[in-house]
Amino acid sequence: MTEDLDKKLCEKYPKIFKMRNASMQETCMCWGFEHGNGWYDIIDSACKNIQNHVDWKRKQSSYDVMTQEEFDEEHQPVAVQVKEKFGGLRLYVDNCDDYVRGVISMAETMSYRTCEECGSHGTKRSGAWVRTLCDGCNKK
Ligand SMILES: [Zn+2]
Repeated sequence: MTEDLDKKLCEKYPKIFKMRNASMQETCMCWGFEHGNGWYDIIDSACKNIQNHVDWKRKQSSYDVMTQEEFDEEHQPVAVQVKEKFGGLRLYVDNCDDYVRGVISMAETMSYRTCEECGSHGTKRSGAWVRTLCDGCNKK
């Protein structure tokens, strides 16, 4: 993904992408978003749902005893790698609960129907490299 969109996601979801600029000994997130710009909206929507869910969870009374730092340590989802594999988006995230796993599963499924380059409706293309593309991007 291009630098401007990469930056935009990190600024919108600083807690999810807090490892973006960590060293490669610590995380694969240092490589950035290893896929085309067409999946930006999918990741943006997934992160929006995930962060809203966690912020809501934080407000539940059972977490009152924890400081924000303690809560984040245990419950804040943190992306460890985001890439393309076999034509689909892979979103690897630590600290997932069932809800977050569901959101990620939906995002990965949508990527198989979305052109990785431009975000139009796409289908899986097999060639030397399996990718999900629209007709236009596939011709290029
Ligand atoms: Zn396309």
